[in-house]
Amino acid sequence: MNFDLTPEQEQLRDAVRALGRRYGHSYFVAKAKSGEHTTELWHEAGRLGYLGVNIPTEYGGGGGGITELALVCEELAAAGCPLLLLVVSPAIAATVITRHGTDEQRKRYLPGLADGSQKIVFAITEPEAGSNFHRLGTVARRDGDDWLLSGRKCYISGVDEAGHVLVVARTEDAASGKLKPVLFVVPTDAPGLTRSKLDMEILSPENQFLLYLDDVRLPADALVGQSLDAGLPALFSGLNPERITVAAMGAGTGRYAIERASEYTASRKVWGGRSIGSHQGVSHPLAHAAVQVELARLMIYKAASLYDAGRDLEAGVAGNMAKYATGEAAALAVDTAVQVHGGAGMTTEYGVATLLGAVRAGRIAPVSREMILNFVAQHVLGQDKSY
Ligand SMILES: Cc1cc2nc3c(=O)[nH]c(=O)nc-3n(C[C@H](O)[C@H](O)[C@H](O)COP(=O)(O)OP(=O)(O)OC[C@H]3O[C@@H](n4cnc5c(N)ncnc54)[C@H](O)[C@@H]3O)c2cc1C
Repeated sequence: MNFDLTPEQEQLRDAVRALGRRYGHSYFVAKAKSGEHTTELWHEAGRLGYLGVNIPTEYGGGGGGITELALVCEELAAAGCPLLLLVVSPAIAATVITRHGTDEQRKRYLPGLADGSQKIVFAITEPEAGSNFHRLGTVARRDGDDWLLSGRKCYISGVDEAGHVLVVARTEDAASGKLKPVLFVVPTDAPGLTRSKLDMEILSPENQFLLYLDDVRLPADALVGQSLDAGLPALFSGLNPERITVAAMGAGTGRYAIERASEYTASRKVWGGRSIGSHQGVSHPLAHAAVQVELARLMIYKAASLYDAGRDLEAGVAGNMAKYATGEAAALAVDTAVQVHGGAGMTTEYGVATLLGAVRAGRIAPVSREMILNFVAQHVLGQDKSY
């Protein structure tokens, strides 16, 4: 058993940490407040090879795994820049296309994902189906060699920043019952695809959208893998990377909040010469949150190692547990950080309450804590499915 990163992974971690710190949380907040995107950070991370660490070298990537991408997600978040689009574009879309795309699709999309010049976002959630993706209602109909795609998606992140969206649908002849998904790479400017921005209570430069697909015409080669049988394994191949990297982002956010809070409580003095951190009513909740974040990190890197070793089923259990643990730990860490700051905790200047919305959403998306508990109850504890 070895808990150490390799020298290359340490180098990557340190370099990403340095990049993140050059931008920092105030940059992230300023972009969010002005309605702009973190374009400079994204492009610089792309140029330095951090966005493509998990993409094969023949397509311009770093040839690493999800462990490396998790390090990138965690370190940027630990610097106060939790970028959700790392989870959708390099983690989900690049994995799906690498593992299940055709040669032509890999050549077309992966180099741009690797250098950050392209983003592909991910659309599965629908208003009626919600957590139950067997009820997905977005339907793909054949029209000659083309496909026509119709349906509605909600909460889709980053559509305004992306050239394409990976849409999960079902074919017309499988329009009800157990889902046999089909995945399409759809240009975000395709005729028939419209979007409206959702007002979210999350301070973030990344936005969520409702998507309307109204007979969006797509050529045959927009179908991932160009086979109706590719959809299910393609969809599942994106789930472990999604859970692991979103967990890494949460762990980084938790670390960031605890670091901010520890600095503050060590220096703030309101009772003579003693710091407020010397009072256990202040330091114990922080220490407790630090324990929770560190435990979650262990599970993240266990899940990433299992995934990179090709042990997908075990990675699924560990990845879900890591996502659950980190969702809770990050929310606890940020809430505790706000509390120990007192009034300063609610200001923008101290940069902790700015993360409340994001960590709260981390207990819901991309998979809710309840659906993970369902998964664990069923697959680990052998309980009957309740739904
Ligand atoms: C910030 C943010 C970004 C997002 N980005 C994307 C994106 O890029 N692409 C995308 O496709 N989606 C995205 N989503 C959607 C997200 O994945 C869903 O919100 C999430 O999966 C929950 O689905 P729902 O909102 O429909 O909740 P519902 O399914 O309506 O569930 C509501 C509540 O009921 C609980 N519940 C439902 N069924 C059960 C059950 N059987 N047992 C126990 N509890 C249950 C849920 O856990 C939840 O707490 C995003 C959401 C957010 C908040």
